Amino acid sequence: MEFNTKIVDFIRELYQTNEFIPLHAPIFQGGEKDLVCQTIDSTFVSSVGEFVDQLEESICEYTGSKYAIAVVNGTAALHLSLLAVGVSQNQEVITQPLSFVATCNAINYCGASPVFIDVDLDDMGLSPTLMQKWLEANASIKANQCINKNTGKVISACVPMHSFGHPCKIDLIKQVCDQWNIRLVEDAAESLGSFYKGKHTGLIGDVAAISFNGNKIITTGGGGIILTQNKQLAQKLKHQSTTAKLPHPWEYNHDDVGFNYRMPNLNAALGCAQLSQLSYFLENKRELSEQYSHFFKSHADIKFISEPVDAISNYWLNCVLFPNRLQRDEFLRYSNDQGVMTRPAWTLLNELPMYRDSPVGDLTNAKKLVDRLVSIPSSVRNFS
Ligand SMILES: *Cc1c(COP(=O)(O)O)cnc(C)c1O
Repeated sequence: MEFNTKIVDFIRELYQTNEFIPLHAPIFQGGEKDLVCQTIDSTFVSSVGEFVDQLEESICEYTGSKYAIAVVNGTAALHLSLLAVGVSQNQEVITQPLSFVATCNAINYCGASPVFIDVDLDDMGLSPTLMQKWLEANASIKANQCINKNTGKVISACVPMHSFGHPCKIDLIKQVCDQWNIRLVEDAAESLGSFYKGKHTGLIGDVAAISFNGNKIITTGGGGIILTQNKQLAQKLKHQSTTAKLPHPWEYNHDDVGFNYRMPNLNAALGCAQLSQLSYFLENKRELSEQYSHFFKSHADIKFISEPVDAISNYWLNCVLFPNRLQRDEFLRYSNDQGVMTRPAWTLLNELPMYRDSPVGDLTNAKKLVDRLVSIPSSVRNFS
C-alpha cells in the first residue's frame, strides 16, 4: 500500500526526525527538576506536603471544579469514586466496551460487574440514546433503585469515558442517569484540557477521575485526581484516600477500612510543573491535529477523527479510521516496522476473559470502530 508509505513519511516530516517516534512521550521543560529537588531537600517526599495541596488548587482553578483530591493513579481515582457514590458488592455499573481495562477493573474492585452499552460513532463515548433504549427494554425502578430485570441486580452507577480526549455527550448521559436513579462517574482519565459546551470534562458527573500516567497529556510519573462539586463527597474521598485516619496530633484512629491512595508530594511537584505547561501542550497538539486533519482530507479512504460538535478536544491521541481491519493491520505492521509507533484501539472490554460473561447491549458501533481505528503519534512537538 503506497498510502502507508505516504502516511509514515508525513509523520516523519511532522516530527522532523528519522529516529523512533513514540505514540505519546512526556516533555519536561516547566522547571520539573527544580520542584522535584525542592521536595527532596525538604524531606517531604511522601503523602504530606505543599505540592499536593498546590496541585489540587491549580487543577480546581484550571477546570473550574469546586474540589479536587490527588491520588496515586487514575485507576485508584476511579475505584474511590465508585465507592464514594455507593457502588457495592453484587451491583452492576453501566460502562462502554471501548475503553482501557482500568475502567472495568475499578468496577470489579468494588465487587460489582459491568454492563456494556454501545458508544456513538461521532465521539466514541457512551451513547445516551442507546443507554436509554437498553434501560427501557431491560430495567425498571423499584424502591428508587434501578434494577436489571434480567439479573435482578441493582444498577447503581454509570461510567462513560471521554475517549482519546474527545468529550462524550455528558449532559444527555446525565439526564438518562437522573431519570433512572443512576449515579454518574466520569472516566476523564484522557480528557484534561477537553471541554464540552463550555465546561471542562468531569464537572457534570457526581465525580470524575483524571489520570497523570506517563502517557497522558500531563504526567506526575504515576498519579491521578478526582473532581467533584459536592463538599461531602470531597471530604469522604480525601478521608478514604488517607487510610480513613481521624485527625489527631498523635493518635492512630481510623473509622473505616480506608486506602493508602494519596498522591506523594514528590509526584505532585512534578505535576505542578507539568500543569504550568498545559496550555502550551494543548496549543501545540491542536496545531498537530490540524495538520493531520488536512493531510487525511486528501486520503478519501482514511478518516481522521475530529473533535465532536459542541466540544473542544485536547487531542490527546490522534486517531484515524481505515476502511477495514485488513488495511488497518497492514498499516500497523508497516508503521511499527518503520519505527513509527502506532496502536489499535483496546480490545473491547466485553471480549476480555474476566468480563466475557457480563451483560451487553448491541455493540455494533464499538465493533465497527475497534476494527478500523489506529492511534498515531501525538506527542507535543518540541524542536528546541
Ligand atoms: C489511563 C487510563 C486510566 C487509568 O489511569 P492510570 O493512571 O494509568 O491508573 C483509566 N481509564 C482510562 C480510559 C485511561 O486511559
